[in-house]
Amino acid sequence: MLSEQIISRLTKIVGAERLLLEAGELQHFGVDRTTIWRANPSAVVLPGTIEEVQQVVLLANECNLAIVPSGGRTGLSGGAVAKDGEIVVAMDRLNQMLDFNPIDRCVSLGAGVITAQLQDFAAERGLFYPVDFASTGSSQIGGNIATNAGGINVIRYGMTREWVIGLKVVNGAGEILNLNRGLVKNNTGYDFRHLFIGSEGTLGLICEATIQLTRPPAASTVLVLGIDNFPAILDVLRVFSAEIDLSAFEFFSQAALDKVTEHQGHVKPFETRTPFYALLEFETANESVLESAMALFETCVEEGWVLDGVLSQSLAQAKALWKLREDISETLWHWQPYKNDISVRVSRMPDFLREVDELVAGRYPDFEVIWYGHIGDGNLHLNILRPETLSNEEFVAKCGSVSAEIGQLLAKYEGSISAEHGVGLLKKDYLHYSRSPLEIKLMREIKKVFDPNLILNPGKLFD
Ligand SMILES: Cc1cc2nc3c(=O)[nH]c(=O)nc-3n(C[C@H](O)[C@H](O)[C@H](O)COP(=O)(O)OP(=O)(O)OC[C@H]3O[C@@H](n4cnc5c(N)ncnc54)[C@H](O)[C@@H]3O)c2cc1C
Repeated sequence: MLSEQIISRLTKIVGAERLLLEAGELQHFGVDRTTIWRANPSAVVLPGTIEEVQQVVLLANECNLAIVPSGGRTGLSGGAVAKDGEIVVAMDRLNQMLDFNPIDRCVSLGAGVITAQLQDFAAERGLFYPVDFASTGSSQIGGNIATNAGGINVIRYGMTREWVIGLKVVNGAGEILNLNRGLVKNNTGYDFRHLFIGSEGTLGLICEATIQLTRPPAASTVLVLGIDNFPAILDVLRVFSAEIDLSAFEFFSQAALDKVTEHQGHVKPFETRTPFYALLEFETANESVLESAMALFETCVEEGWVLDGVLSQSLAQAKALWKLREDISETLWHWQPYKNDISVRVSRMPDFLREVDELVAGRYPDFEVIWYGHIGDGNLHLNILRPETLSNEEFVAKCGSVSAEIGQLLAKYEGSISAEHGVGLLKKDYLHYSRSPLEIKLMREIKKVFDPNLILNPGKLFD
């Protein structure tokens, strides 16, 4: 509970209508898409300017209050969860497009702009913002930057980090930093911008960003292949990427396809049932790319890796095929899945896949395990569905113990316990499998430089 005095000071900063204290509002703003923790913030504030954000942070320092920065709350690791009486600073009102520059092909915008709005803004100007994933209709650009979001185009365009050329942030001490200012070249010492990208709200509140846009891709074709076994997915990736510049290479299991077709009513890509499916996308500026793709498809069939396939013949069909992959995450929500978001280098994938598959089959004999992911980037999403017989607590405890074993395997393969969703609350116990004790010590020290009183997102990333 906040004192009357603090409530009155917060009201002065953001205005009475922008200070939310009702139980329903606290619930709404206090969680992300994880279903493990209960929302319990003491207040939600909706600042409208960077100066208001700064004043809230200064007040929090003065009165020793913890802050949880909150974007679109689509996060999958509990980063935006406020469970211990924190003040949620929601960026929804910082949602303006501030400046578009056609010469530099960049746009400055408030952190609360929804990702899909940025994509549309770029498209309306004949340009392209390539970071894309299933929750861009709700996630905010500030949240994407704070998590360095990846998605379905990383193989060709990289993660969010590649597109951020400027940031305005309020750090944990309440100071405003204007970082890189849209420059392409700027070798003037440490680039703090990159520290804030992926910092999960632990160093500062991102209030504005300048984003590089690019030319839109040529017309693309989508190919969905039915694949015989796990290792064969990587054979297919190897032969296709050797000859064609892929913009996406995704995979999903038959179980994932069954869920998405049953629950969303989507049409199957073809009648043949196969253990796995790969979805490939590539630009088809000329016929020769399509000819190469067909020849590679035939090679894969001859090798016994691919059992069936379909090539999109229209934009509508390409979109429908993408839905089979993109709607998996949303569909699985029904079962409150425990999500592992892991990665290894693509070259190590075959051995890693064999070992992780054995581990999971051995440890989860009674659980339904759903595989899918951005396998072209070495990123697997391993989802364990909660059986109705287990309570949420029992289920999370069981999954957590297996996550530790997956962590050990990842350490052996020098992989990552969080490829793109961030660490938040969900993965912090496993951070040491991917980062050395020295790295974690240095991270703590860096946090203290930007957030000396440790008021920003305490308990996230590490304790
Ligand atoms: C169906 C579905 C599919 C998804 N697919 C992908 C995918 O393919 N790839 C991927 O990378 N992610 C994916 N995600 C996860 C999620 O959408 C991303 O992590 C996204 O970037 C989170 O943005 P957000 O605005 O919702 O952030 P939130 O969930 O609100 O917050 C995420 C973290 O960022 C911090 N934060 C938020 N805003 C700010 C700010 N302005 N300043 C400082 N810190 C801030 C929060 O404190 C928290 O730690 C998916 C989620 C769903 C539900």
